Amino acid sequence: MNKVSALALGVALSLGLAACNGQPVATNAKQAQLEQAAPALSSGIDPANMDTTVAPQQDFFRYVNGNWLTGTEIPADKARWGSFDELRENAEKQVLAIIQELAATGHAQGSDSQKMADLYRSYLDEERINSLGLTPLRSEISRIDNIDSSAALSQYWGQNQRYRIGTPLAVYVGQDQRQSDQYITGASQAGLGMPDRDYYLKDDERSKVLLAQYEAFIETLWQLAGWDNAEQAADNILAIETQLAKAQWSRIQNRDRNATYNKLSKKELAELAPGFDWTTFLNAADLNDIEHIVVRQPSYFSAFAKIQAEVPLAQWQQYLKFHLLRANANNLSEPFVNASFDFYGRVLSGLQEQRSREKRAVSTVESTLGFMVGKEYVARHFQPEAKARMDEMIENLRLAFKEAINDLEWMSPQTKVEAQAKLGKFNTKIGYPDVWRDYDCVTIAADDLIGNLRRSAECEYQRMTDRLGQPVNRDEWGMTPQTVNAYYSSTMNEIVFPAAILQPPFFNVNADDAVNYGAIGGVIGHEFTHGFDDQGRRSDGEGNLRDWWVTDDENQFRERAQRMIDQYSNFNPIDDLRLQGALGLGENIADLGGLTVAYKAYQNATKDQPPVIIDGFTPEQRFFMGWAQVWRIKFRDEALRQQVITGPHSPGMYRVLGVLSNMPEFYQAFDVKPGDAMYREEDVRVKIW
Ligand SMILES: [Zn+2]
Repeated sequence: MNKVSALALGVALSLGLAACNGQPVATNAKQAQLEQAAPALSSGIDPANMDTTVAPQQDFFRYVNGNWLTGTEIPADKARWGSFDELRENAEKQVLAIIQELAATGHAQGSDSQKMADLYRSYLDEERINSLGLTPLRSEISRIDNIDSSAALSQYWGQNQRYRIGTPLAVYVGQDQRQSDQYITGASQAGLGMPDRDYYLKDDERSKVLLAQYEAFIETLWQLAGWDNAEQAADNILAIETQLAKAQWSRIQNRDRNATYNKLSKKELAELAPGFDWTTFLNAADLNDIEHIVVRQPSYFSAFAKIQAEVPLAQWQQYLKFHLLRANANNLSEPFVNASFDFYGRVLSGLQEQRSREKRAVSTVESTLGFMVGKEYVARHFQPEAKARMDEMIENLRLAFKEAINDLEWMSPQTKVEAQAKLGKFNTKIGYPDVWRDYDCVTIAADDLIGNLRRSAECEYQRMTDRLGQPVNRDEWGMTPQTVNAYYSSTMNEIVFPAAILQPPFFNVNADDAVNYGAIGGVIGHEFTHGFDDQGRRSDGEGNLRDWWVTDDENQFRERAQRMIDQYSNFNPIDDLRLQGALGLGENIADLGGLTVAYKAYQNATKDQPPVIIDGFTPEQRFFMGWAQVWRIKFRDEALRQQVITGPHSPGMYRVLGVLSNMPEFYQAFDVKPGDAMYREEDVRVKIW
């Protein structure tokens, strides 16, 4: 699940040896006796998805999901398909129904309904979009053509922060990681058209082919715009991006919360990256009053200042024009839409078909007016009883986490006190925001798609920069309620569960506790553990980056984390690509810690109940099956490759195999023995939390 990024990055874990907490599994005699008691709740396990010809001790992912894997085809317009995607598809249908209903009638100008309906209409009006061609971008293109000095270029980049298009730097305003009750301005590397710097730098055959296809894509857009010298332009643009890519930090470096926190005065910024007109840039970005800025990648900023001075202005203009087309391609006429799909859909993700225009229209409304849609979604689809059960599970998980910290053998009492203080201060949000975001600032017209999106981007930018000097808004949510996901925010020190994830197979109100603790319980534990993963552990309960670790405890933590990196780096999902254990570390620690704590919470919550057998499985078995059901997924090769390179989440099967092979509780539940494929020798298993 995600962590909210920007200035505020998520976090993570801690450690442990700890004895196993597994409960004895019911004996056969006891099982037989128990089966007579008819359970009121279902197991929540779908036996039709299982492949019982595979032993659970050999490949638990396939044992639970094998028939589903064999019988499921990835839809032609999807890059991957799994539990998350099914729920996302379903949420999207529900949102489509809401919006279509609104679009069927007229509404008062300026009302929420008018804005959602007209934005949807403006996207669906393909005839008008096709007839307009490049017209909606003409004035922006002439602005680029009129850039006549490096000061004018700086100014353009500053103004363009509102749209985040064609800018090698991205500025933003977010919580200060060292003073979380205040907002501060930050700046990060940006400016590539491919998903990551690695796509420019790797020199294996597959990467070279992709880079050539990207260059062809640049040429295609250039030609579609009717501009001359496409080949030359593509060469120049690719050369600029490659230079930027070489100077950029890797995703692994970007995870480091200390290395990426560099608070500079404006004078220090000018010294770090001389030769760029920072004053003009910041003024144009509406940030003239700031005193400090947090620079995430100082060496990149120095390199950028050099590159911007060395590249001729005419080539920067080509770069800007291409990125203007690229960013708007999906909102332009059909040939642009198709070219963009060919590259980003077919080539990079392996898609066979473009999503329907209706679905893309819904995504546009979602990404532009998401909380407005969310208000309606919650009114129709949120079950209030889910919130009560979630509250209870979260508190049980918190209690289990507290016990887990107490039981850690590798952590000193001093560090434990700090860890407990942090745990006690976690805030939780479930379902939807108490205070809804307003969109008063946005004007939407049914005949102006690109204008709608630009005006919306301007409003969102204004909303963000207006935060400077204001108290931190703790009501804010980083995900809309209709998002099938969850997150931890390290600067808020809070875990957040949008309404849409509170559905089967994550959360089943009609199912017995075992499967729910293994599924949504594991997810809750995952988000808690982000507060104690390799990055999360660096901040305290107030959300401030502060070192509260005794040195020896930190070393113990690092040693365990390294074993985890090594384990996951051995997984080889496709071709010669292995998982990047260091990139996925926070997520993998969160999975292992999360499921371990969920197991403990489940045991605590049911300790006075007899272990009921349902559908032939013990409670402990159903718990682990619940986790495995959640992660069922299939990828297209291209999408799998992209996920491994850009991470940080391990593909679903490794979230099952990697975590369970470290848990003695799993060994007990399924009688895993030396020689089984799921078995790891005790000295290489990891337990952190
Ligand atoms: Zn996560």
